[in-house]
Amino acid sequence: MPEHRVKDKPYGTYSVYTALQTGLCVTCPRCGGLGIVTSERGTGRFQCTRCGHMETKKSTGFRHRIQNQCRSCGRYYNVPILDPKQQTFPMLRVACPYCGSVMPGRVEKTKQSCCYSFDTDIRKGRDPIFGFDLWFLTGFDGKLVWALNREHLAYLIGYLSAGLRERPPDYFGLRTQADALPAFMKTAKNRDRLVRRLKALQTK
Ligand SMILES: [Zn+2]
Ligand SMILES: [Zn+2]
Repeated sequence: MPEHRVKDKPYGTYSVYTALQTGLCVTCPRCGGLGIVTSERGTGRFQCTRCGHMETKKSTGFRHRIQNQCRSCGRYYNVPILDPKQQTFPMLRVACPYCGSVMPGRVEKTKQSCCYSFDTDIRKGRDPIFGFDLWFLTGFDGKLVWALNREHLAYLIGYLSAGLRERPPDYFGLRTQADALPAFMKTAKNRDRLVRRLKALQTK
């Protein structure tokens, strides 16, 4: 029997950033139905396809953080400031993440980057704008596994169930979509079970 081959996609083909252009699938907090989150010019929009519930949220487009060299242990650190009230202060006292000693640091404001990666912008299986649970979300041995939308889910199933995986043409030495997947998802012994979990999500 010929083996099912699949070509991987360039890194970023399926990212939070691209999903927010076409629609990131989340669970409606009102009715538990399928909701869609999009973002355009700094405004996030949510709309439920079942009950019609809508929400909007304006993003400031800026990231706030304190970068400092610890006076106690000497290490450089980078602490994000997420509280909107704290973001307005020019200086804040924060703890060094390595040794815990508290010292003042300057709050720096930088333009938010446009590129989201698979592993950094989805926290606890929630969308980064409203914090709603993703629609295509499942557990696997205590870890969360998700897809951003139906296309991403189909890609994951196709990639993980293939007998042979190839890098995209002219992509040697460059990152691919699958390079961003956590190791447990690519491990041969987990693949069949993982594909069954993901296929179950397709019927949602
Ligand atoms: Zn709803
Ligand atoms: Zn320190």
